This record gives sequence, C-alpha cells and structure tokens, in this order.
Amino acid sequence: MNDVNTSVLKTRVIELVNEHAKLAQVINDSLFSFGELGFHEVETSRYLTATLERHGFKVERGVAGMPTGWVARWGSGGPVIALGSDTDALPNVSQKPGVAYHEPLVEGGPGHGEGHNSGQAVNIAAALALKELMQNEGLPGTLVLWPGIAEELLAGKAFQVRDGLFNDVDAVLFTHVGANLETGWGEVRGAGGLISVEYAFHGASAHAAAAPWRGRSALDAVELMNMGWNVRREHLRPEQRSHYIITYGGEQPNVVPALAKVWYYIRETDVENVRKNFGICNRIADGAAMMTDTEVTRRVLGASWPRHYNRVLAETLQRNIERIGVPEWTEDDNAFARAVQRAAGGEPVGLTTEPAAISTSPFSPGTDDIGDVSWVVPTVQLRYPANMRNLPGHHWSNAMAMATPIAHKGVVCGAKVLAATVLDLLLKPELIAETKRYFTEVQTKDKQYEPFIGPDDKPPVDLNKDAMDRFRPLMRPFYYQADKYDTYLEQLGVSYPQLERPA
Ligand SMILES: [Zn+2]
Repeated sequence: MNDVNTSVLKTRVIELVNEHAKLAQVINDSLFSFGELGFHEVETSRYLTATLERHGFKVERGVAGMPTGWVARWGSGGPVIALGSDTDALPNVSQKPGVAYHEPLVEGGPGHGEGHNSGQAVNIAAALALKELMQNEGLPGTLVLWPGIAEELLAGKAFQVRDGLFNDVDAVLFTHVGANLETGWGEVRGAGGLISVEYAFHGASAHAAAAPWRGRSALDAVELMNMGWNVRREHLRPEQRSHYIITYGGEQPNVVPALAKVWYYIRETDVENVRKNFGICNRIADGAAMMTDTEVTRRVLGASWPRHYNRVLAETLQRNIERIGVPEWTEDDNAFARAVQRAAGGEPVGLTTEPAAISTSPFSPGTDDIGDVSWVVPTVQLRYPANMRNLPGHHWSNAMAMATPIAHKGVVCGAKVLAATVLDLLLKPELIAETKRYFTEVQTKDKQYEPFIGPDDKPPVDLNKDAMDRFRPLMRPFYYQADKYDTYLEQLGVSYPQLERPA
C-alpha cells in the first residue's frame, strides 16, 4: 500500500479510537474500582471478557492453569498481533481517586497503586478501532488480546509462554502505564532477571518448655538460612538485588514450630547470574536444614527473564508517538498533578509536555515478567501518560490519578499510538519480516530462551486468597456502576481536582 493511502487509513483509525473514548473510560474506571490482587482478578477478567465477547471476540478462559487467565481473538489470517497489559492491583494501597491526600477507599485494602487498571482500556479501544477499519477495508490479520495475571508477583507470563499462548503470534505489543509516551529497544539494564522462590522447612513440634529437646525448630532453620544469605551477600556481585519475607514462622512461642517458610526474590542483571545466585541460595537452605536436622522443600512462585525489546517494533511505535504527541492537559490536571507530587514528597513539576525520545539502552530498576514473552516472540512495550512523574511507585499516590481525566486522556492517547502501530504492521508485511530478522539475527543469535520455571511448576494461584477473602466484601460497595454514573469520580462525589482535605 502506498504512503498516501496508509496516511488516510491512519487518520481514520485514530478517529475511530476517539469514538471508543467513552468505553475506554468505563473500562479504566471499572477496573480501578475492582482493585483485585494477582490470581484473583475475578471481576476484572469477567468484565473484560464479557466486553470483548460483546464486540465479537472469541474468548477462551482459564488459560495457562490460571482461573483468571484468558485470551480473546478476532480476525483471520496473518499477521497475528497480540496486545497485552497487566490487570492486577497491589496490597495496601487502596486510595480514593481525584483527591490529592491519602484517603483509602478501604482501610488496608488493595488498590491500583501501579495503574494496571488502565492498560486493557488502551488495548480494547485500539482493538475495536482496528477491527472496524479492518472490516471496512477488508484487511487480513488477527488481533489477540491477553492479560498479564499476577504481574506484581512475577508469576503469570512464564506460564503463559510455557503453555503456548504465543505459539502462533508474530508480534507482541505490550502496554504499561507511565508518566510519558515512550518506548525503547534492546536489553533492559537493571536487576531485570528474577526467580521468586519459597523455602519450607519441616521439623518436629514439642512443648517448648517441657521437652524442647524432642523438637526440631523449622523457624531456627529459616533464621539460619537468612543469616547465611546476609553474610554471603558481601561476596556476591554488587549488581544483585535480593529480598525476603518470612511467610510463616509458627503459631505461638510455647510450641516448637514444625513448619516455617521464607520467600526470596533473587534478582540479577542476566540469566547466568540469576541461576548462579539461585544455586547459592539453595545450598544455603540445604545447609540450614542440615544444621537443624530439618528437611527443606522449595516451590518456585514466579520467574522472569531480563526483558529484550524489539528494535523494529520500537522504531515503528516511535514514529507514531511523534505523530500523535501527548494529551492536552488542562490547568486543573496540572494543578492536581502538582498537588499529588507535593503530597508524595516529590518535585511538583506537573504533567509531561513532550513525548520521550526513543530509548536505545532502556533502564529499569525493577523486573517485569514480560521478559519471558520477549524471548519467544518479538515484543515491545509502549508506556502511555496516564499517570505523573516523581511518585514513589507501588504507593497510594500512584493511584490518585488513575480514575481521573489524566488517566482517561492518557489511555486514549496510548490507544491511538497502539492502533496506528498495528495498522503499520497490517499494511506493511516487510515490517513483520524485519521484526523477525532482528529477533533471530540479533536478539537470539547467541542466546536461546531456557525458562527458569520447570515443566511441572504450577502458577501459585493460592497466593493472595486470604487477603481477597477478607477485603472483597468491603470493596464491593465501591464497584463502579457505569449505568448510573458518568464517571467513577461522580459516583464517589469527588469534585475534581480536590487539592486539599476538606476541613
Ligand atoms: Zn506494572
């Protein structure tokens, strides 16, 4: 197709995204109100799959051994383009949106303090616009929509990869909330590879005063293991990051704990060093078991390879980023952003005014399990400006904008870039070929994907169950009723922007 026709169709698909702005807002606000922790994205998945089915997508549920997993497909033939985004919330960051002071909706409850409520709104708005254009123009191609499940536990995507979700996919465009419109390519720097593993020590209980010599304390083993690791840290590469919590340490002091558990995240910059440190950690666990005459078992709870983003996909995204630009913010949006930034102790710089330049050596201090996907299919990430800069991350302040006009505009902006980029891939088959060439001749030339998870590891779908059982009944009264209220802010009676706590 010539460039003039491509440009006409691109203008058209961007207009079509605008027509889905209302639906995008309702999806964004609904998911915000559900605020579900990983593996319990029950309302979220039910709502998203129903929305996609209503729009003609064919949905498969319970994908990759995860009750909340799903995949939705529409279209026929190639290319097969998969649009993904995470859907889970975080513990302890419940927050009323549109107000610039800390106020949980449910005290101690989970919430979207990362902004994972917005990405599926981006993807669905883009997909529906593309579907309409593809139908009108008779363009072949298949759109595949899928959710990141339990991303905050790095516990979903390696299983989706292993169970074949991406087997027939040509390219993955992954969207993630950000403070700007941006993308990049290459291997992400930072402690980006990770194994999440829980060690359980098994001893013997006894009366802690009457017969302690008959007991063998599993908690002693956990403590010795942690001591061993903390001493060994000094002799690991400074690039490593590792952290643990004791998930179980007994019931009461007068019973020698027969069971104790400790959960480790082992992070390093590359696959070899993750494996090396995992081996050291396992030996320290064995040593602790030997010292205490207990037994140790371990369960891998999640894993991620370091991410590698595709150059051709990123460059295609970047051209559309520059064409579309960041949203027009109002003075209210900027006043709200500055107030939130101040409330979180950051510089009150307001909202972004220019899209970012393409990053050729992306840096991220954290880990994202899109890493595993990026090693089996050409993958790129688009960040869209639905949130603001200078916030701590994984924090109540990161939730404040996520059901306001800032998020609503950021979502539509992201959907336009995404739809325009998919259109490029549909119209120019040579782009898909170049994408694959980068994947095989550059990215995977000397490095092949060997997952950290084994064939028998299962997604730990029991995690977060207790918290959701406790909080869901308290959260339900706050679910967004889109048939009654134009926006979630209206339902909550928030007059945006509320910069200070009412006296
Ligand atoms: Zn995230």
